[in-house]
Amino acid sequence: MSVYIPVDLQRKIRTKFADCCAYCHTAELLTVTTFEFEHIIPLSAGEETVFDNLCLSCPSCNRYKASRQKVLDEDTQQEVSLFNPQQQLWSEHFAWSEDGTEIIPLTSVGTVTIYALKMNRAQLTRVRKMWVKLGEHPPDML
Ligand SMILES: [Zn+2]
Repeated sequence: MSVYIPVDLQRKIRTKFADCCAYCHTAELLTVTTFEFEHIIPLSAGEETVFDNLCLSCPSCNRYKASRQKVLDEDTQQEVSLFNPQQQLWSEHFAWSEDGTEIIPLTSVGTVTIYALKMNRAQLTRVRKMWVKLGEHPPDML
């Protein structure tokens, strides 16, 4: 579903997330896609198109997340909330592997989010290797 988001609001969101995907931290300028404004809690669940409920997302993370807010943690068989980029700090739930190509979970939120959004999919880790060689990755973000 496409919802109108005022340009000022788009600018605020882009600034907050430094033109990077709020989930996988891919920098938009390193890709050939246009990133999207994602409703963290979907409109269908009663949330609104407001700053606190929006983030910048690469198209892949946006598609894989879809309208989900929670996913099943296979290890504990418990439903765990996906990472909320407006309410939680990325660096408290994720870290970069030493070579900068994989996202390591630090919490159960990190584990389920990496799994659900396929944040370490093979194509992405492969392209991250090139970005690391170019000195363009990982981004300096919290
Ligand atoms: Zn992403």
